[in-house]
Amino acid sequence: MQSAPGKVYLVGGGPGDPGLISLKGLRCLQEADFILYDGLVNPLLLRHTRAHAERTARADSAGRRTLQQEQINEKLVEEALKGKIVVRLKGGDPYIFGRGSEEAEALAAHGIEFEVVPGITAATAAAEYAGFSLTHRDKASAVCLITGHEDPTKPESALDFPLLARFPGTLVFYMGLHRLQHIAETLIQEGMSPQMPAAIVTKASTPSQRVVVDELARLPQRVLEEELSPPSLIIVGECVQMRDRIKWFELKSLFGKRIGITRPAAQAEPQIQAAVERGAEPVLMPMLEIAPAQECTELDEAIAKACTFDWLIFTSANGVEHFFRRAWELGRDTRCLGAAKIACIGSSTAEALQEFRLRADLVPESYCSEGLAEALIATGTRGPVLWPRADRGREVITDSLHDAGIPLETVVAYRHVDAEQLPEQAQRLLDQGDLDWIALSSPAIARRLAALLPESARSRTRIAAISPITATAAEEAGLTVDVTATEFTWDGIFAAIETAEQKA
Ligand code: SAH
Repeated sequence: MQSAPGKVYLVGGGPGDPGLISLKGLRCLQEADFILYDGLVNPLLLRHTRAHAERTARADSAGRRTLQQEQINEKLVEEALKGKIVVRLKGGDPYIFGRGSEEAEALAAHGIEFEVVPGITAATAAAEYAGFSLTHRDKASAVCLITGHEDPTKPESALDFPLLARFPGTLVFYMGLHRLQHIAETLIQEGMSPQMPAAIVTKASTPSQRVVVDELARLPQRVLEEELSPPSLIIVGECVQMRDRIKWFELKSLFGKRIGITRPAAQAEPQIQAAVERGAEPVLMPMLEIAPAQECTELDEAIAKACTFDWLIFTSANGVEHFFRRAWELGRDTRCLGAAKIACIGSSTAEALQEFRLRADLVPESYCSEGLAEALIATGTRGPVLWPRADRGREVITDSLHDAGIPLETVVAYRHVDAEQLPEQAQRLLDQGDLDWIALSSPAIARRLAALLPESARSRTRIAAISPITATAAEEAGLTVDVTATEFTWDGIFAAIETAEQKA
């Protein structure tokens, strides 16, 4: 039996900054069963979906394979007919030089329901991230979006250059970098001043953004000198001169830096955000993944008698989450703790507790095992203490409590599993030494990186460690640590990188 046809959303994914997608677009990604996206879409957007996602153009062993527009239309129809919620995710806005309307026509012709979710088009994003207003009231009373991509074999231009040369406002050429010489010359021939201010904005709103402002006549030469490449916009008009006064994006503290984030993929969202907010490019390179304990009997027993302990210790957000998730699965809830007090190693772990509306009774000043053990012993507790922990890690707490004569029970709440292999792009950047920084958040991650980072790339990639203990483990594994955080959190790592970059 044929299922009812699904629905297609033509969604604008914005110009590159992964924050520049609409709430509605985000909801579509979350609900999708199948996604077809194009090469301009920031792959970080795909973190918001569990759908199977395919790219319209991709490199494979036989070289580059690109779906033709016809095939894209067919694919959308085909998937929708299977009853799926389909998202066609396109760079910028789906209709602005995006052929989205052709896709809509194909869907309409097949009677398939669809909606269009507008996106932020490259023109407005490029202007605003570069520091000018396309319609500044003193400089432009209109703006014109133009395709610069014309078939060079055609003698006749579809563009009315005499009209464009006299246009009372800002001209924005999409897809025109390879035709810049022709565009500039023709505009000047048709009467535009060779001194007209103009700009190229490349990879707008991403950490690779480049902006060149010059006189129109000089722009083609500048593109060669600066080795600019697509995707780029050509923006012609006086408004580009505002950049000196109102540029902001490139002033971000880590603008343009590529930072390897070694956290487990599913937990890396806050670090991705932190990098993007600072103008950096986060490169996900999970060294470990987190998995539930293989055998839960001991954990279940510990949960059953949790209320008999004087203190519980948590040394990671994962410990908190796995302990209470398992309690929930067993039909229990946070009351399983009874009056037991809770000690956390640091602020992130304490925040994980807050998610369960629990407050830590103890967080040491120094976020490390030594600090936690010392603070716990200083409470004068006689135990017993329960520590739901990872299957591997440091033994400082066990040893210290043992020496202090405090009975401790440990139980495996979750496991660390070495990531089999890094995402392809991350491995390539790692091999080529094309990362500016790699941030390490535990000794295990440091050792794993040491195994994966080629000797040849070491001098070009700097390493930031979350704490002196992680730094020592990294050094022992043969890495050189450039900075160590003073607050032992991911925020601390970013702060340490910022300080190092300011000095540079
Ligand atoms: N639908 C897209 C445009 C697709 S056409 C939109 O609304 O933005 C592709 C062209 O868009 C590129 O050749 C380039 O001219 C422009 N473009 C897209 N993203 C860009 C970016 N981040 N920076 C500069 N130009 C971009």
